[in-house]
Amino acid sequence: MSGDPRKIPRVDLPAGTRRDTLAVREGLPASPWGENSEALFLTSSFVQPDAATAARRFANEEEAFIYSRFTNPTVAMFERRLAALEGTEACIAAASGMGAILLLGMGLLKAGDHVICSQSVFGSTVMLFGREFAKFGVETSFVPQTDVAAWRAAVRPNTKLLFAESPTNPLTEVCDIRALAAIASDCGAWLAVDNCFCTPALQRPVEYGAHIVIHSGTKYLDGQGRVIAGALCASQKLIDEKFMPVMRTAGITLSPFSAWVVLKGLETLSIRMEAQSKRALELARWLEARPEIERVYYPGLASHPQHELAMAQQAGSGGAVVSFIVRGAASDPASARAAAFRLIDSTQICSITANLGDTKTTITHPASTSHGRLTEEQRLAAGITQGMVRVAVGLDDVADIQADILRGLLPPADAPRDR
Ligand SMILES: *Cc1c(COP(=O)(O)O)cnc(C)c1O
Repeated sequence: MSGDPRKIPRVDLPAGTRRDTLAVREGLPASPWGENSEALFLTSSFVQPDAATAARRFANEEEAFIYSRFTNPTVAMFERRLAALEGTEACIAAASGMGAILLLGMGLLKAGDHVICSQSVFGSTVMLFGREFAKFGVETSFVPQTDVAAWRAAVRPNTKLLFAESPTNPLTEVCDIRALAAIASDCGAWLAVDNCFCTPALQRPVEYGAHIVIHSGTKYLDGQGRVIAGALCASQKLIDEKFMPVMRTAGITLSPFSAWVVLKGLETLSIRMEAQSKRALELARWLEARPEIERVYYPGLASHPQHELAMAQQAGSGGAVVSFIVRGAASDPASARAAAFRLIDSTQICSITANLGDTKTTITHPASTSHGRLTEEQRLAAGITQGMVRVAVGLDDVADIQADILRGLLPPADAPRDR
């Protein structure tokens, strides 16, 4: 255990302990009772030994648990474990993925600052930057995710933050994190990457120069659809100086219960990501060979426009989300939408929900759900058509998912009809 009495001790692990071991062991030492599975501390406040010690702790001269709005042992366990997996010095948990992005903005930006954000990020992220932060005088330019020149051209003297997500939802566009990091470094801005789709099991953005990693713990980190959670990983200095003061005053706090659930989820993260990505690749290859499918979007396929980059950046894996376009009976959007709806409604196993990152495979129609608030022009500009279906592959047997999809596929227009 760490020797400094002014610090909260770490669990005793040998130097060089590897990632899979850290995933099940990194955190705090056990309590005096010696529990093997991490304890859940739901308490709101912590008793101080005496008034002078309490004063030192409140003044940040000594690390200790004080009050669970900003310090809690179960939440700290989750933060330390996720930081270990992402390869960052520190992490701060938030009430949700969006809470983590709110914390990012509140910690780094002030009126008059400028942000460059990929136009293909999560819908609520677009609204947070484009609408909510705009109210406080922060301006955001949205640029095409994969067009590095457009990112560079958008830089202004007051640019403070670049924000990307890779791969994106539902088109699985992959950005070159290293190239964006170079732009950020040239203009003295921070680069934040939402690593929700890959998780540190497949991609660690700081290895490519990102300064901040954002997570929706709701997705793969929990992995079983149980709780809402979020986190922001960064250097100790950024966490201490920029984000902890905001957390302490703004209270975007992750509940210890949710932290405990996600903490236990991290223990199986790498094997889930491996198994779910393997199934997704199998499904994507199968879909690509079906005549009823017009196009498949999956970074693990050689046909994906950023396949090589994705393989290099994502540990040779395409992740577990596959999107595809179903051929309609005719070429109009209404026919495409009818074909997509028919496919979704014919499934008997897949869960019809816009969530992802669950062990249960989910299926959704992006144009009418996650991207339903956009106009048809905005959707088409983003490449999201009415025939598009997104599948977030879980741990179901792929053959069952294939059978599920097959139930709803229209026969191709030029094939003879079954009698
Ligand atoms: C779901 C999601 C978020 C938001 O996370 P919540 O936990 O739902 O607030 C942010 N980014 C991406 C990529 C997501 O998929």
